[in-house]
Parts: sequence; C-alpha cells; structure tokens
Amino acid sequence: MTSIAANLQAVRARIAAACVAAGRRPESVRLLAVSKTWPAASVREAVAAGQRAFGENYVQEAVDKAAQLADLAEAGLEWHFIGPLQSNKTRLVAENFAWVHSVDRLKIAERLAAQRPPGLAPLQVCVQVNVSGEASKSGCSPDQADALAHAVAALSGVCLRGLMAIPEPGEDSRLQRSRFALLRQLRDRLNAEGLRLDTLSMGMSHDLEAAIMEGATLVRVGTAIFGERNYTT
Ligand SMILES: *Cc1c(COP(=O)(O)O)cnc(C)c1O
Repeated sequence: MTSIAANLQAVRARIAAACVAAGRRPESVRLLAVSKTWPAASVREAVAAGQRAFGENYVQEAVDKAAQLADLAEAGLEWHFIGPLQSNKTRLVAENFAWVHSVDRLKIAERLAAQRPPGLAPLQVCVQVNVSGEASKSGCSPDQADALAHAVAALSGVCLRGLMAIPEPGEDSRLQRSRFALLRQLRDRLNAEGLRLDTLSMGMSHDLEAAIMEGATLVRVGTAIFGERNYTT
C-alpha cells in the first residue's frame, strides 16, 4: 500500500471517518493534495486516481510542473498557492493559480488583485492567520485578521473565501483543536460582521482529524499522499 492511489484512498477514508465523528457530511471537506517537491509524474498519478486540486509552495516549481501537465487541461486541474508569498512573485501567482491561501498582508492582496488577468475568474484567496502566537511566524496576528479580511474582501480581482492556518507541529490533539477553534471563531465573527466566508483551510497529514472536528472545509495533505519529502534533491 505505498502507491499514490492507495494513499489517496486512505486519506479520503480518514476524512470520511473524521466527518462521521464530527457529525458532518464527507462532501463538506475538500482535499488539497500538496505536491510541492514532487515531480509532475507524481501529480499525474494522483490525477489518474481522481484528484484535481493541488497545492504548491514554490512559484517557479509549480509553474514548471503545470506546464509539463498541460496535456491534462481537460481534467480541470486546480492549482493552489499555499506558501509564503513575496511581493516580487505576486504576478506569476496571479497569472497561474486559481487560489492563494497565504495572504497575510494587504499589500500582497492588492498586488494579486491588480495583477490578476482580466480574462480569468477572480483569484480565490484566504487570509492566513498565525494561531500559534510566538511559536510561529507566518500569517497575520489574530488581532489583525479582522481589518485585513475586510480590506481584502473589498478588492476586486480577488474573492475572499476564508481563513487559513498552520498551527505549530505537535502531537497534542487538544492543543491542535484549540488552535483550529480559534480560526473558526475568527471566521464566525467575520461572517457575523457581514462577510460570507465559506472556507476554513486547516489540517495537514498529522492533524486533519482535529481540523475537521473544528470545522475545516479544506485540508492540505502532502506527506500522507506522496510520502516524505526530500528537500535535497
Ligand atoms: C507542506 C505543506 C502542507 C502539507 O503538509 P504535510 O504535513 O506534508 O501534509 C500543508 N500546508 C502547507 C501550507 C504546507 O506548506
């Protein structure tokens, strides 16, 4: 059971079981396959097993990979940018991705909005929030999330879909759940203030169950699908 197809099946089963445990419909959670560092051939295998949405952290790697998979256009692959985003990379992201999960400051959102080609649907974005305090650097602070989300929601060229978080790694499932619950509460507050956020992008290979218990609508899973990453190659 080490093929990508078998791993995908196992991850889908974990998602379904977590949904049952949480009293949720399995269709309420999307699976994003995180293919960073893996070659186009691995993505191809996942596509053959029915997967369509892929997450990438490195802009040029993703653009090259997508070009190698151009023959799969009819399958309708959907590319999500999930990594830290520098200003000088926003144009490539705006031109090549359907989603960005890692918007953590207004300047980045404004550039993405302005650089989104008019012929494409608005870029679907999430505001990334640091729910782990000192233990993590990426994402805006929970205090900044409210103002940032409202400002991003007012831009045209991007469509604010929700919030994303990467809690610090760890095995303590109660701590994991408290981090995910914080993101859910922020989303609920923003919706009470008039936004319409339908996405909570949270949960990875080791903590997707905790995330689904707290309302994740999209889990980002790499290792459990493709195997351990090797950054040296
Ligand atoms: C790499 C990465 C993932 C996937 O993590 P796994 O532990 O391999 O499932 C998910 N989200 C983000 C933002 C990542 O950078």
